[in-house]
Amino acid sequence: MKFAIIGSGFSGAILAQELSKHGHDITVYEEREHVGGNCYSYRDKDTNIIVHKYGPHIFHTDNQEVWEYVTKLTEMMPYVNRVKTTSDNQVYSLPINLHTINQFFNKSMSPKDAELFIKDKARDDIHEPKSFEEQALKFIGEDLYKAFFEGYTKKQWGVSPKELPASILKRLPVRFNYDDNYFNHKYQGMPINGYTPIFNKLLDNELITVKTSNKFDKKDSVNFDHVFFTGPIDDWFSHSEGKLGYRTLDFIEEKHEGDYQGCAVMNYADQNIKHTRISEHKHFSPWEEHSETLIFKEFSRPCGSSDIPYYPIRLVKEQKLLEKYIELAKKEDNVSFLGRLGTYRYLDMDVTISEALNASKVVLDKITKKEAIPSFFVEF
Ligand code: UDP
Repeated sequence: MKFAIIGSGFSGAILAQELSKHGHDITVYEEREHVGGNCYSYRDKDTNIIVHKYGPHIFHTDNQEVWEYVTKLTEMMPYVNRVKTTSDNQVYSLPINLHTINQFFNKSMSPKDAELFIKDKARDDIHEPKSFEEQALKFIGEDLYKAFFEGYTKKQWGVSPKELPASILKRLPVRFNYDDNYFNHKYQGMPINGYTPIFNKLLDNELITVKTSNKFDKKDSVNFDHVFFTGPIDDWFSHSEGKLGYRTLDFIEEKHEGDYQGCAVMNYADQNIKHTRISEHKHFSPWEEHSETLIFKEFSRPCGSSDIPYYPIRLVKEQKLLEKYIELAKKEDNVSFLGRLGTYRYLDMDVTISEALNASKVVLDKITKKEAIPSFFVEF
């Protein structure tokens, strides 16, 4: 069959690879001049440092199938994400762990003592936290919340943590030991030459045509048996119901000699410091040596119509709007929506990959059974 895939991030590239393997003819339309979506990386011409153009992407997963899939596409180098944060002129360890707690409260507690200590500070009257703030107050109490989460979250999301869903904070663990691995996942690593070679490999099949700097015109859908759309779902409908809100990021790049901050990611928790974090990209490839260094100060702001969407906001207003678009999408013939933008969800890379692999299986199965390909491959 003849398929158009809109977008060449993980969702689009995996679908292209899996469907072409079964003899289907694929055209990938990519608006930007490069493939890989927000995972795109390049080697800086002057320093040869691998840069993640759209901010740090650290690969981590518990999903063995996904890990095996990725490690067939590239060599994954051992990497453990250890993030630091600066709060009120002091540097602390993240995620909140025993080191953070002892340093913050100027104590030397054991895991058990710390757990009791924090339990005492935590709000026990919140049973089912409904917001980011309630989730934080229930688990770590007001002092740690204010020092590490409140300011950062306001900068990152542009709204009070009272309005944000608890799920955003649930991404981060709190530990009563000295484990400062940012992720709890079994597998973690960094692609030896960055992410772009993974996409080149996924899209390398004679049945796949990649058209970069090429915005798909909806009218051209008639030339294909089916269209897979991985761009923003409201774009497909020309924002007929209103615009779904995103946060976008700006980066200020600086070049320095030697080691700028001694770690890959330094968060800035205070609200009066305008950037949310500084990433020093050579530290994401600790197996390489570079005498110079590149740092990127990261700023978050509302996403305008010509900006790149990063984080779906998903407050009550957006959820309602999303429901309208889901209804419209279900009425479309021969179009499926997938991925972070296609389904308007905050997705990590491994979940995106897993969903794209599943979508490919569903599509191939539907073709065999001569049944219609669904509008979505996930439940909302
Ligand atoms: N967060 C925070 N302080 C930090 C790190 C994270 O308040 O130092 C909050 C913030 O709201 C953020 C969320 O926790 O959006 C999830 O953090 P994560 O590091 O997973 O964000 P990402 O790397 O996806 O931007």
